[in-house]
Amino acid sequence: MENEVKIDKGTKAREIKIENLSMRQLLELDACTRCGECSNWCPAYEQDEREPINPRGRAHAFRSIIRRQYGLFRPESFLGKLLGKQPVTEEEIKQIAADLYECSTCKQCHYVCPVSIDTVELWEAIRRSIVEAGYGPLDSQKDLVTSVKSYDNPWRQPRSSRARWTKVAKKKKRIKEEPKDISKNKAEVLYFVGCTGSYDVNVEEVALNTVNIFEYSHTDFGILGNKERCCGSVLQRMGDHESFEKIAKENIQQFNDLGIKTLVTSCAGCFKTIKEDYAKVGAVNFDIMHTAEYLVYLIKSGKLELKHEVKMKVTYHDPCHLGRHSGVYDAPREVLRLIPGIEFVEMERSREYSRCCGAGGGLKAGYPDIQNKISQTRVSDALATGASELISACPFCYQGLKVGIQAAEAPITMRDITELVYMSMSGKTETEAPAADEGAEGE
Ligand code: SF4
Ligand code: SF4
Repeated sequence: MENEVKIDKGTKAREIKIENLSMRQLLELDACTRCGECSNWCPAYEQDEREPINPRGRAHAFRSIIRRQYGLFRPESFLGKLLGKQPVTEEEIKQIAADLYECSTCKQCHYVCPVSIDTVELWEAIRRSIVEAGYGPLDSQKDLVTSVKSYDNPWRQPRSSRARWTKVAKKKKRIKEEPKDISKNKAEVLYFVGCTGSYDVNVEEVALNTVNIFEYSHTDFGILGNKERCCGSVLQRMGDHESFEKIAKENIQQFNDLGIKTLVTSCAGCFKTIKEDYAKVGAVNFDIMHTAEYLVYLIKSGKLELKHEVKMKVTYHDPCHLGRHSGVYDAPREVLRLIPGIEFVEMERSREYSRCCGAGGGLKAGYPDIQNKISQTRVSDALATGASELISACPFCYQGLKVGIQAAEAPITMRDITELVYMSMSGKTETEAPAADEGAEGE
């Protein structure tokens, strides 16, 4: 089994802080009725049917820890002695941590839970306590966390090469100009590229298409280039809250100082983190939009004209952090409807019930085989629609679903929504820089 726990049995565990859990979350541990509905929907449990990894098992196991470390059932208490309760062991906590990290933080369990337990908030609070007690994250996930702290990205890539893609793209004539450095030249829109879009050449199309769309639509935009840092999503999902808060505060300060009107990001994880998680750390003085939302604005305001037919049958995968976490379901669908020639078909599981690609929450790093199987299951959902293209709106989902397409050798093409918009506005299938006279008429 992946992430098998090896530790001496019987060593008494360090205390797990309950202060990180709100009163509501402590009550939620008790509120679980053990109905098991979550087990029918959890993508991780679907691939690894072990009770401790389903939400019900997780809540039960953690409640037992809390009760034996703090409550009436402490082994040294009267009730504890009467009932023969044993101290919490390191082995137990390590196993709970391993099970807790076998989760993509997709939030599906919250939407099906009859008592509406805010599951992912709860998992993240427990992960925080587990990290603070020194039992998390898993060894296979530690690299991501240390890399963000040392290199400002999860891939151990040098800071100095974060904006390398812009130079290469300009040289290859795939973008007209390198986007301006917004820290030197003011702009209305900050395009926050994110770590995956900046460093992974396999998903560079997302950033290139976005830049070309902004050029076409005469959007006054810029990027932070090498000064852009990870949004900190990885840290928050892994439970390293202290490091997350530090990076969030620094990013908020940097963004606020730019004097921008809007921050636009193509990554569902960055979007959720900056919009939802940063709000708990500090105030921002600008709007935050996902690219799909900004595209709707550009098209409807006449700044971006979709002139060319794109004759494709497509289906759309809702990224968990864009859909279930942030409530953005309609904007990407509206963009697809506005592209002439597109035949759009929904998967049986969509919107709130969209099946996860398995890439989030550290699952891909901790349990790559489980992620691979989850991804293949999602790809089979897409194939069942008869679509030839699988569309999403997140570079991380793009990576995650490609894993399933490749493993299953599935006859379907993975594309980001920006790619279809680019095709429709330019009439080209290969991303290349717009000519000087191309683009929407005026501002
Ligand atoms: S968040 Fe998703 S993967 Fe995690 S327990 Fe809930 S349904 Fe399962
Ligand atoms: S659906 Fe909710 S109440 Fe039912 S077992 Fe899962 S977490 Fe508990």
